[in-house]
Amino acid sequence: MSSKRPAAVQIREVGPRDGFQNEPESIPTPDKIRLIEMLAAAGYKRIEVASFVRPDVLPQLADGEEVLRGIRVPADVELMVLIPNTRGLDRALAVRDTFHAASIFVSASETHNMKNINRTVEQTLADDVGMARRILAEGLKLDAVIATSFGCPYEGKVPLDRVLGIAERYAEMGATEIGFGDTTGMANPAYVADFFSAALERLPGVELTAHFHNTRGQGLANAYAALEVGVDSFESSFGELGGCPVPVGSTGNIATEDLASMFEEMGVETGLNLDAVIAAAREAQSVL
Ligand code: ZN
Repeated sequence: MSSKRPAAVQIREVGPRDGFQNEPESIPTPDKIRLIEMLAAAGYKRIEVASFVRPDVLPQLADGEEVLRGIRVPADVELMVLIPNTRGLDRALAVRDTFHAASIFVSASETHNMKNINRTVEQTLADDVGMARRILAEGLKLDAVIATSFGCPYEGKVPLDRVLGIAERYAEMGATEIGFGDTTGMANPAYVADFFSAALERLPGVELTAHFHNTRGQGLANAYAALEVGVDSFESSFGELGGCPVPVGSTGNIATEDLASMFEEMGVETGLNLDAVIAAAREAQSVL
């Protein structure tokens, strides 16, 4: 057994946000609530449940407040919401007692960031400083996510130093967890190993989370590569729901069922009841 492989990992379920937002039709609020509660019962300790994007841009997630108010999960389940901008933060803080962690984000690639949220990376990071302060002042956990960390569909390879430089700025803002997204599935296992080895060295004390996409079939191989260099925090989507809306058609979150079963068979604990995750995935398919 490799010396850096962790004995246990955390898996955050992102299907209720990353997944539902990429479905063509909106899922009725009561179904979302029921599915999130099924996921919590499957053993997840972290679930991303809502995004406060403008409702006209993402009608699929317009019911964030209602979902948050409706869900009943055990006290040790951390609920996370995605915050795109200060208006989204205002909306989230109006229901502040319904969740535990707030996630702010940027794309490492200038072009992807512009196409996704219509701001430069520097403008985004400048806004994020103020948002981070407000999130921390509320006693919430601050997460940051860096999209296109392993490559950009428009710019190609994104320099490692650029990505880790952004990560260091988020750490300075007070983020205790930083997620690295392979937004369009461009990572490969060798690069992932180099990337996370460097990241773990440069960001001591910060939890580093790997979020891979299966666009080119390399999602699980990348997760394995990250695990072997010591990464113990992952994100995935039950039933393989979702992906990324920019560019259109680039889907492919790795399936939680696949990720968790790989880890469990390797002797790495996930805390998940696989049968219950699969049952929730089947239930989601029947709703969609
Ligand atoms: Zn994703």
